[in-house]
Amino acid sequence: MTGGGPKTGGDPTTGAVPSAGGVPSAGGVPSAGAAGSGLLEIKDLRVTYGTGADAVPAVRGVSLSVGSGSKLGIAGESGCGKSTLALALLRLLPATARLTGEILLDGEDVLTMRWGRLRAVRWAGASIVFQGAMHSLNAVHRIGDQIAEPLLLHRRATTPAAARARVAGLLEQVGLPAARADAYPHELSGGQRQRVMIAMALACDPRLIVADEPTTALDVMIQAQILRLIERLVADQGISLLMISHDLAVLADTCDRLAVMYAGRIVEEGPARAVYGAAEHPYGRALSAAFPRIGDPASRRAPRGLPGDPPDPSALPSGCTFHPRCPVALEGCAHEDQELREAAPGHRAACVRVGTAVPTQPSAEPRS
Ligand code: ADP
Ligand code: MG
Repeated sequence: MTGGGPKTGGDPTTGAVPSAGGVPSAGGVPSAGAAGSGLLEIKDLRVTYGTGADAVPAVRGVSLSVGSGSKLGIAGESGCGKSTLALALLRLLPATARLTGEILLDGEDVLTMRWGRLRAVRWAGASIVFQGAMHSLNAVHRIGDQIAEPLLLHRRATTPAAARARVAGLLEQVGLPAARADAYPHELSGGQRQRVMIAMALACDPRLIVADEPTTALDVMIQAQILRLIERLVADQGISLLMISHDLAVLADTCDRLAVMYAGRIVEEGPARAVYGAAEHPYGRALSAAFPRIGDPASRRAPRGLPGDPPDPSALPSGCTFHPRCPVALEGCAHEDQELREAAPGHRAACVRVGTAVPTQPSAEPRS
């Protein structure tokens, strides 16, 4: 663990637009990553909000890697810690959050880097697209000015005219007419606002885009358009993607690899097709079954929900935190937690049944 004990999450200016300090070199973050490592390496990340009896352990030892140019999806129900993980990546958490572990972006630990450097990395190393574009955009500024701000601050554009030209190019890249630069956020539809957020995220040529439920607030048709846009942009520009959703089907469609999160931990991780199509963890299977699949009428008839609610992080069940809801729990699951174990090459799950002769499916599926 780098940097010793827990760090608090907040910088006083959390969420603020970076200043010109710490202007990155071309490319934003140092190009030399540790040999063989991903662009983003998260190691044993733990985030706890508050202290004492009220402490909420929102992320409990997450290790993940996103390779250069690859796309990782993180799925899980509301409250499992997805947004906390996303915010931790750029140290955007409130000051009440304590973090331990490492978040290496091209080998450099975000959790210990100096404030000036962090501000540069927030734009040019990795940028975040949030779910609620209306809350992330400033209602009283024209969108063109909002997209131009980081360009000018980071000297990606040295004159207002150059910034305007770059803004026009960015708007066109995300499928908006350049003239929309003069619009205020309320003059745009939800889908158009999310396109603006994506243009802002692209402004300083980031190596990684973190998209936290980027389409959740949108209707299905617009959702598909935004997903295709994100896919096309990251593919064309070689940007890595970390996309978060409660919908495993959406992620499976867009990402190369999937990680399933439950109660602050990753309980399954592997190639998208394997995790979505043949999940090894009972929770991964429940998530796969929770949404109808395109072209599979049977899944539309009987999407199997999970009984019960996700656990309260401040009062987690003993043993495997999923055991109270697990359809195939064994007696020992209430007492013993499980580490991720390899089920197939590159596919791991944290279930006692993985790698044993005990079947991972119940013998008769309940029909409802
Ligand atoms: P998700 O994005 O998966 O819905 P979050 O990361 O938002 O989950 O939340 C994880 C847990 O942390 C939840 O129990 C939530 O109530 C709690 N939490 C989130 N933000 C804060 C905060 N600022 N202070 C205290 N608890 C928080
Ligand atoms: Mg969230």
